[in-house]
Amino acid sequence: MADSSEKPATHMRRSINKVRTNIWKREWRQAVHSMLVLPRNYLRGLALLIKRPRLAQELVAREQRIKELKSNLARERRKIRQLKKPERRQIPIGSVHYGDLRRLRPISQKFGFDRGKPIDRYYIENFLAHWSGDIRGRVLEIGDNSYTQRYGGSRVKVSDVLNIAEGNPQTTIVADLTRADHIPSDTFDCIILTQTLQFIYDVRSAIQTLHRILKPGGALLATFPGITQTSCREYGECYCWAFTQLSARRLFEETFPAASIGIEAHGNVLAVMAFVHGLAVEELRREELDYHDPDYELLITLRAVKPEAALSQGRRAVERLRRAIMRPRSRSEGKALILIYHRVTELRSDPWSLAVSPERFAEHLDVIRQYALPLGLKQLVQRLLDGELPDRSVVVTFDDGYADNLHIAKPLLERYDIPATVFLTTGYIGHERGFWWDELDQLLLQPGTLPESIYLKINGSIYQRDLGEAAHYDEDAARRYRNWRGWQDVPTARHSMYISLWELLRPLAEGERRQVLDELLTWAGTESENRPTYRPLSLEEAINLAQGELVEVGAHTVTHPFLSTLSVASQRSEILDSKANLEEILNRPVTSFSYPYGSRSAETVAIVRKARFACACSTHAELVRSSTPRFRLPRVHVADWDREEFTRRLSRWFSD
Ligand SMILES: [Zn+2]
Repeated sequence: MADSSEKPATHMRRSINKVRTNIWKREWRQAVHSMLVLPRNYLRGLALLIKRPRLAQELVAREQRIKELKSNLARERRKIRQLKKPERRQIPIGSVHYGDLRRLRPISQKFGFDRGKPIDRYYIENFLAHWSGDIRGRVLEIGDNSYTQRYGGSRVKVSDVLNIAEGNPQTTIVADLTRADHIPSDTFDCIILTQTLQFIYDVRSAIQTLHRILKPGGALLATFPGITQTSCREYGECYCWAFTQLSARRLFEETFPAASIGIEAHGNVLAVMAFVHGLAVEELRREELDYHDPDYELLITLRAVKPEAALSQGRRAVERLRRAIMRPRSRSEGKALILIYHRVTELRSDPWSLAVSPERFAEHLDVIRQYALPLGLKQLVQRLLDGELPDRSVVVTFDDGYADNLHIAKPLLERYDIPATVFLTTGYIGHERGFWWDELDQLLLQPGTLPESIYLKINGSIYQRDLGEAAHYDEDAARRYRNWRGWQDVPTARHSMYISLWELLRPLAEGERRQVLDELLTWAGTESENRPTYRPLSLEEAINLAQGELVEVGAHTVTHPFLSTLSVASQRSEILDSKANLEEILNRPVTSFSYPYGSRSAETVAIVRKARFACACSTHAELVRSSTPRFRLPRVHVADWDREEFTRRLSRWFSD
């Protein structure tokens, strides 16, 4: 406002300067000063008047013009001061003129309907007009379909009206948005939801329904009240909420991807005051309605788009094609993420962050279903070969072959219809003893008492340690260090011993490792304990796991060695034997491989390739791109993250 009002004054000042410059440029500049300014040169000025009368006249006229311009400038300045006055003026306490507003009842209680157009409608209608392109195809509106008709026009093919109860003849769907399981998913191209959510107590469930029934790529156009009258009289007990831009954003970000949400607040103190008094749009000036003061949120508008990634098979193909046509080749390159899980369970200690709780795993799958394109590993490899990697695709994999993969993970994968590849270490299938790192965990990180010192020969060297006080490890200590991870500082001598032994055991051949573990058990005075939660899959369970179309079984060697440290011959037998074992057990080809610990050399890759695997996964955390070699597929380790953390990490990977 201040900017545009100052323009005339600036312009005026420039004109004065221009006139002045012209005068000063002329040869008679001296004479002007002589005649008008300096009395001692008066005679020279008079002489000019006599000698060049026209010039002198022109001078006088110009001085006159300067005077006029100056007075115009002063007038404009006064106007500006006047315009700014109400904004700047401090009204002394007790001097505010309330006029018609000094009343305890609002001027109208009908939101302004009885005086013209309610003020919130001004913002609602501007918003819908702005996004009218979204109002197309099959459109759902709440209450009636007036906005659908007004802003959608011929773009609308089917118009649905939702009401919570029967009675309105326009109603095509009777539903409570918080429990609307009878409305099919992926149904609407657009949902117009104006001033509705404030009446729904369980807003979250309603937002989830809206997301679910929206078609992928479809838009939700929603508006909510901010500062408002609650109208208990008209709507009784059901007016629950008023929103802010922030609360609306956070609520919707729980269900829609943050990047797909556009949100704005509208209003200012005058508009809010007029609105709560029930005045109408016609009673304010347009600039007064349009002025935006972020501290006065009269109305919030939100547009959220359901991601296209969750498209159905048929539409996905069409969409892919459309994208391929629309974008230049280099920009159409998709990014995929392969996730590594190990276990779906809860553990008392988890030094390598291998376990994700069943609840969290279900949340991860839900997020993948909503925001990404779940793909099987085989499909991903096929797409890589075809040179058309779909963007935001996510592949779920499991390493090692724990029994919980069948009993806990598979039912959840089925519930969300998300494929996964499970890499089995064939030597452990049906094994009575668990994985060596779990035995080490059982020995050192579970409560109990150990001898205070150890003296052992491992791989030709002496291993000597004193546990001191840490020889005794009680429930409290185990609880305290429950979240300790192998890459963090060691809190006790037991943890230090765990890490040093883990490093010593990892490169050993299976036989040597077992021997050391047995010696450790003897030292500890215990026996290997079969902990059911740490059990690898049995033979029958491995077969059950592979049943159906959803879970692919891949190979992860026989004994889980650090491949790059083995001889080529040993590597070959680890790789080929695990493939052959699995093919025999499952009676189907096994074409995916994963390198234990991600360890591999150039020979390893050559052996895998020659063994007729179609791909091999490493543990290098990276996105898969069209140029990624299929025998060095990177994967990202997933920890026990909650929904928010998992979503944040996923979107960070994809925004890379
Ligand atoms: Zn592994």
